[in-house]
Amino acid sequence: MRGKTVLVTGASRGIGKAIAEKFAVENFNVVINCRNSFEKLLKLEKNLKEINSNILAIKCDVSNYSGVKDMFKNINDIFGGVDILVNNAGISYIGLFNEMVPEQWDELIDINLKGVYNCSHLALPYMIHNKTGSIVNISSVWGNVGASCEVVYSSVKGAVNSFSKALAKELGPSNIKVNAVACGVIDTEMNGFLSSEEKNSIIEEIPFMRFGDTREVAETVYFLSSGESDYISGQVITLDGAWT
Ligand code: NDP
Repeated sequence: MRGKTVLVTGASRGIGKAIAEKFAVENFNVVINCRNSFEKLLKLEKNLKEINSNILAIKCDVSNYSGVKDMFKNINDIFGGVDILVNNAGISYIGLFNEMVPEQWDELIDINLKGVYNCSHLALPYMIHNKTGSIVNISSVWGNVGASCEVVYSSVKGAVNSFSKALAKELGPSNIKVNAVACGVIDTEMNGFLSSEEKNSIIEEIPFMRFGDTREVAETVYFLSSGESDYISGQVITLDGAWT
């Protein structure tokens, strides 16, 4: 199978779905993944196949190394390997740090950070062999500045930012770019718990006076993975409408 392949983790909805749609339109082989919402993922696969036949949906928990290994074997058999990895899968936790139980801390670390390790580790042999590749990690402004009641989420996204900077230095000689996109509030189900009053009060704080759109994240990820940005690596690009 010819053409470049992108793997977008957590693509059943929200930001990941928009990123998958962008790469499908641009004629990449697109692998979409999620952990639970497989019906939704299959529906997306079906819709994307109307514009691009090279779409593959794989159910896999990114926090499970052996499951991720199986996913990569499947991708390698069909498309040869992953040229562009978008580590997007993630969950949030909102609540007082004092009231968090260890299992909640572990779950955030396992999905939002170990998931990034698992997928990057298994994508790299192919990229290093080809001396080209791009990894884009979807991070958060809370990883830059920290948020009250989101201590573990801020911690893991801060770690994802440092991971991106450090890995970029290690992989520069192999011509592989690693960047992060630190999103502000993007209009997805992850923020579905906010009441309209809460949404309005956040919007009042954002100079652009609105939440970000998933397609704006997708365009940024696409730019960071394209030939237009070949010398941009090790960066945390903040996409927050001048909020933070
Ligand atoms: P959504 O909750 O809308 O979507 C999350 C996606 O991740 C789903 O497809 C979900 O699928 C998948 N997912 C969750 N856990 C796993 C797992 N263990 N393995 C595989 N897939 C998994 O979130 P968003 O689109 O809003 O967020 C996407 C990314 O952007 C996250 O990393 C998030 O932290 C980050 N972000 C979001 C912001 C926002 O305001 N929305 C702001 C800053 C960062 P399933 O349900 O099937 O598991």
